[in-house]
Amino acid sequence: MYKIIDGKKIAVEMRQNIKNCVNEYKRRYAAEIGLAVVMVGDNQASQVYVRNKIKACEEVGIKSFAYYLPEETPQKELEELICELAANDSINGILVQLPLPKHFDSEKILKLIPVEKDVDGFSAENLGMLSQNNECLTSCTPNGIMKMLEHENISVCGKKAVVIGRSNIVGKPMAMLLLNADATVTVCHSKTANLKAECLEADILIAAIGKAKFIKSDMVKDEAVVIDVGMNRDENGKLCGDVDYEAVKEKCSYITPVPGGVGPMTITMLLYNTYTAAVRSRN
Ligand code: NAP
Repeated sequence: MYKIIDGKKIAVEMRQNIKNCVNEYKRRYAAEIGLAVVMVGDNQASQVYVRNKIKACEEVGIKSFAYYLPEETPQKELEELICELAANDSINGILVQLPLPKHFDSEKILKLIPVEKDVDGFSAENLGMLSQNNECLTSCTPNGIMKMLEHENISVCGKKAVVIGRSNIVGKPMAMLLLNADATVTVCHSKTANLKAECLEADILIAAIGKAKFIKSDMVKDEAVVIDVGMNRDENGKLCGDVDYEAVKEKCSYITPVPGGVGPMTITMLLYNTYTAAVRSRN
């Protein structure tokens, strides 16, 4: 019998803890914790994400500073804004909502975020520190997955973990976190020779592909833990993951649903990273 990992419930618990910690921080330092959220253009999906992030900040008592810039904003103007935020002591975290409109050099913009305010954990410095198993601000989605595994007492040590996807924001940091937790990790991607055979080896299977219901039941080992990062639309326009949930669930020991699995943990980890950045700024 499989168990559904309820990301929504875990996120609510974690947010309550973060709220308590934020209150204690404010009392101790008589100061706010601030997160700057910068959005350029009018990408509909990004607007929803930004709104949700701001709402989540309010929920735990983190002060958000939202900057909505028009699509045609010049690169230099955005660079100047990030530099101002970088120098502002009231801002503990800076988040630039991606993707930026095409005319921006996104890499150059992201490089202006100081490593200690990089609450998305996307910078080369934070990724590098993660790969060396040093303390850092870790990419929110993979870190949220580790918290889910911990919450369910799913031991990672010595397990065979297979991560499908090698993006800098999900697949690679996920693989490094699992490796740091002593799993034996395989990373698969679009050029992997025999994906099914690799997947069938997995005690823990993490799908971060971006293809609706791509993982079928014949790709999953009996009693595997299956974590679905994907956020896609199915043929009826309904939100779904990378895993064919209905077909796969019976084979699993644990599985995350979409929606209500990994998604709610991602924003929670952003709050956690912002709080962590604030605490570190005091040490
Ligand atoms: P991405 O940058 O597009 O990376 C997708 C990865 O999947 C790539 O490494 C790609 O391989 C691999 N891939 C594509 N087709 C494949 C195939 N047929 N077989 C094996 N591997 C294949 O995507 P991402 O940003 O990592 O996100 C992945 C998914 O997670 C998306 O659905 C995204 O919406 C979702 N997501 C969800 C959250 C959340 O909070 N729930 C957060 C972030 C992302 P190559 O490298 O060879 O191209």
